[in-house]
Amino acid sequence: MFSNWRNGIVRTFGARIALWYFALFAVGALVILLVAGLILSRSLARRDREALLASLVRYTDAYSKGGVTVLDGLVAADRAAGTYEPVFVRVIAGGRIRMLSIPVEWSRFNLNDLDPPGAGASNLQQLPNGGREALEVASSRLRDGTLFQVGRSTARRDAVIERYRDTGFLLFALVVLVGLAGGLTLTTRALQPLHELTAAILRILQTGRTSERVAVQGTADPLDALGTLVNRMLERIDGLVQGMRSTLDNVAHDLRTPMTRLRGTAEMALQSGRTTEEYREALADCLEEVDRVTGLLDALMDLAEAETGSMRLRRDVVPLVDVVRDAVGLYDEVAEDKGLTLAVEADLQAGTLTGDRPRLTQAFANLMDNAIKYTPAPGSVHVTVRAAHGGIEVVVTDTGVGISADDRPRIWDRLYRGDQSRSERGLGIGLSLVRAIIEAHGGRVSVESEPGHGSRFRVWLPRDMTQM
Ligand code: ADP
Repeated sequence: MFSNWRNGIVRTFGARIALWYFALFAVGALVILLVAGLILSRSLARRDREALLASLVRYTDAYSKGGVTVLDGLVAADRAAGTYEPVFVRVIAGGRIRMLSIPVEWSRFNLNDLDPPGAGASNLQQLPNGGREALEVASSRLRDGTLFQVGRSTARRDAVIERYRDTGFLLFALVVLVGLAGGLTLTTRALQPLHELTAAILRILQTGRTSERVAVQGTADPLDALGTLVNRMLERIDGLVQGMRSTLDNVAHDLRTPMTRLRGTAEMALQSGRTTEEYREALADCLEEVDRVTGLLDALMDLAEAETGSMRLRRDVVPLVDVVRDAVGLYDEVAEDKGLTLAVEADLQAGTLTGDRPRLTQAFANLMDNAIKYTPAPGSVHVTVRAAHGGIEVVVTDTGVGISADDRPRIWDRLYRGDQSRSERGLGIGLSLVRAIIEAHGGRVSVESEPGHGSRFRVWLPRDMTQM
């Protein structure tokens, strides 16, 4: 069903484009042939007219010089020279025909229909013979009343135009065929990427495999660019799906460990012969494990809350330097155990801002947690706090593994974990939570990093929240 639908869409669309292409092609060819025909017939007519007038002048001259004898001689010479094309010549003087030269086949023209010009004037007329042929006659009357008429048939010209018409017709038929075939081939080729795109999307719909990709040529073609974009979108979806899968695995794994320990502790405690002190210890262990599980679930819920924009923030007056020191303080021991140096450089004039202190502590703790987690010993984590751009800026710099250019825009995505961080504990929600908290305070957070040399997370917060 899907494939019928797909073929239908592509075919009707393709057929429409092919038809348009063909129609434009055919109309263009027709216009060109018609215009060329018009130019041809006009220039042939002009050439014939000029030749006729030239003959008229020559014959008039010859007659004026030597009368009918010389004119006869000239007409005969013209015939002998082979330039003869049945030419009609008539001279009327004093009401009498002095000379008449007309090919027999032209006797069907009614010469009386000719309208002779007045004295000293000349004219050009066409005398039809009822058929397709016409006699084109140039007449001129001398001052003494002598009338000269020279005529030619339009048959030769008509034959040329007819040949042009026949050839033009053939040419047009050829153009129509080429246009139709070209239109179909071109549209089929042009729509090929669209075809592949639909096919790839259908495969994904049918198999559910987001690893499918559209075949692209890497050209600047808009359809190819669309294919590239779809591939990038698929890659992103694929990444998110993978991320969600691995997070689900991680969550399951992170839940299983404390749950197993909880079960073990409870089982041990239930064995007979335990002292009150031992029960107390077992319960304390159980509480610790429960806290761990609750912490994990809280983090997931916080993120969901922050991402749907329903996170409610308190409006405390927060001395940010203290908040940052608190967050750093949480990691003093961890850093020392790992062999990292941890330093805070705070500008005491940085001042306060309005915000949710526990949430801000949570955000900076996440940044500290990452900095320490992704920095191998020997290394350092350096934190600065200062007033900047009407607010407060906190910069966390580490000398750790860094983040690749590919990963950099994605680390803020929910559940996204960098490739090299798989070995570290984590769920891929820390940074999305950091961003959600900072943005909920009207601030912004960004990262610069050089893989292999370290990363720098820059947080800027306004003095007053613009969002609550
Ligand atoms: P995770 O639980 O994986 O730490 P986060 O959302 O906190 O999740 O971070 C997302 C990814 O960003 C990490 O998987 C890691 O690849 C990268 N990342 C975050 N902070 C750093 C850092 N300071 N140095 C190197 N990579 C980092």
